[in-house]
Amino acid sequence: MRGWGPVEQPLYDAELGLVGKPDYLIESAGQLIPVEVKSTRNSKAPYDAHIFQLAAYCLLVQRQLGKRPPYGILHYANRTFAIDYTRQLEQAIQDLLIEIHAQEKLRELPRSHHSAARCSHCSYRSTCDQRLL
Ligand code: SF4
Repeated sequence: MRGWGPVEQPLYDAELGLVGKPDYLIESAGQLIPVEVKSTRNSKAPYDAHIFQLAAYCLLVQRQLGKRPPYGILHYANRTFAIDYTRQLEQAIQDLLIEIHAQEKLRELPRSHHSAARCSHCSYRSTCDQRLL
């Protein structure tokens, strides 16, 4: 692919349990840059959720297409931001994925006790739908 291209197939990483499809991939100087297009306007700063979405695409491109994007692009209706795909952002998206999968596993597992006291000290209490308090 050269220049701009829509992404036909979702990128899938079984090990990460992650699937995603950036709106476009730009090939430039041997690098692949994922682009996420938002129909909303945003004049100030990119939203955190959008940054993490873009970071997930960068991670997928890195792992599935073998090229680590130096940045990704968030394109709002009125403004475009280039978001550096730093090592810190890469670590943050990996940590977030681990957290999401841990939460998913938690939801799948039936509660193994009947102790409200145990739930009261549990760090998953705010999101666990089986808590006893
Ligand atoms: S809140 Fe209670 S039921 Fe939920 S994970 Fe924690 S200890 Fe288990």
